Amino acid sequence: MIKFENVSKTYADGTTAVDTLNFTINKGEFFVLIGPSGCGKTTTLKLINRLIRLTEGTIFIDEKRISDYDIHQLRWNIGYVLQQIALFPHMSIEENIAIVPEMRMWDESKIKNRVTELLEMVGLDPDTYRHRKPNELSGGEQQRVGVVRALAADPAIILMDEPFSALDPISREKLQDDMISLQKRINKTIVFVTHDMKEAIKLADRICLMDQGKIVQLGTPRDIVQNP
Ligand code: ADP
Ligand code: ADP
Repeated sequence: MIKFENVSKTYADGTTAVDTLNFTINKGEFFVLIGPSGCGKTTTLKLINRLIRLTEGTIFIDEKRISDYDIHQLRWNIGYVLQQIALFPHMSIEENIAIVPEMRMWDESKIKNRVTELLEMVGLDPDTYRHRKPNELSGGEQQRVGVVRALAADPAIILMDEPFSALDPISREKLQDDMISLQKRINKTIVFVTHDMKEAIKLADRICLMDQGKIVQLGTPRDIVQNP
C-alpha cells in the first residue's frame, strides 16, 4: 500500500510541481498517472522512491513513513523503469539484469536461474539473448530487458515512467500486452506514468488524471470513460 497524505513538492526555483495530493494505491494494483506534460507525474513517481524530497505532507508505504525507511532498503524494494533505455552498453544482457541481485549477494546459480526466468517471461529466448550486448537488440527488446531488470530482485513496487513511449506502435502494443500478462503473474504494485489515454485504459486498474499538480479525476478506466 502506498499512501499520499497532503503531499506537495515545490522545487528550489519556486515551481510547485504537485500540490496537496491525497490518494492511496492498493497492494497489487496497476495504478496509472496520466495528464499533460508538466502536470507533475514524474515528480509524483520520484517522491515515492525518494529520488526527490517532498516539501509538505507524508507518504506511507505499508503504514510506515518513507522517511523512516533506510534509503537503500527502500530503493531495493522499488523497481524503476524509465523511458530512456538505460542498459549498460558494455555489459551483457545477463549482467545488466543481474546488477541488483548481485548487490544483494545472491549466489551465482540463483542469479542465473532468475535471468533465465525473467527473459522467458518477456519472450526472449535465454540461450540466445543472455550473452548479447544491448546494441545487438532492437529497441523493443531492450525495453523488455529494462522492464525485467527492474523486477530482478523481486521488488514489491515497480515505478514506470513512460516506459514504452519511445517505441514504434507495434512494439508498443506488444509490450503493453506483455505487461498485462506479466502483472497477472507477478501481482506487484505498479505505478505507471503515461500521457496516452488509450494505454492507460488498456493497462490500469485505476487511473489518476492530473493537471497542474492536482488530481482532477481518480477512478477505474470505466469511470473515466463514462464521465470524461
Ligand atoms: P530531476 O531529474 O532532478 O528532476 P533533471 O535531471 O531533469 O532534474 O535536470 C537536472 C537539473 O535541472 C535539476 O536538478 C534542476 O535543477 C534543473 N531543472 C530540471 N527541470 C527543470 C525545470 N523545469 N525548471 C527549472 N529547472 C529545472
Ligand atoms: P510531468 O512528469 O507530468 O511532465 P513533472 O513532474 O516532470 O511533470 O514536472 C512538473 C512541474 O515541475 C513542471 O512545471 C516542471 O517544469 C517542474 N519541474 C520538474 N522538475 C523540476 C526541477 N528539477 N526544478 C524545477 N522545476 C521542475
